Amino acid sequence: MRKQYLHLSAYACDRCASPVIAGAIAIRENEISKETDIRQVGAICLSCGHRQNGPTEPARVRHVLPIEWDPVSANGARHLTTAYVEALNRAELH
Ligand SMILES: [Zn+2]
Repeated sequence: MRKQYLHLSAYACDRCASPVIAGAIAIRENEISKETDIRQVGAICLSCGHRQNGPTEPARVRHVLPIEWDPVSANGARHLTTAYVEALNRAELH
């Protein structure tokens, strides 16, 4: 069964050195397949709100183990986060 996984990573903020949390969503078609279609979904500093997309050398990145991500919205509909992110990205372009 097709599943989504959330990958979280943390690194230091360039502005205030607090942790920036970055998220990415990956799709796994079944239990044994490799993850495909990995997409960044955002990054933000927990203290100052700076949206820093990646660590600045020589900062270390700490990775959290992937979390199964199967969101159900208020109306009970299941949806793929990647589809939502795509819609957001499209909206930003216009
Ligand atoms: Zn910061």
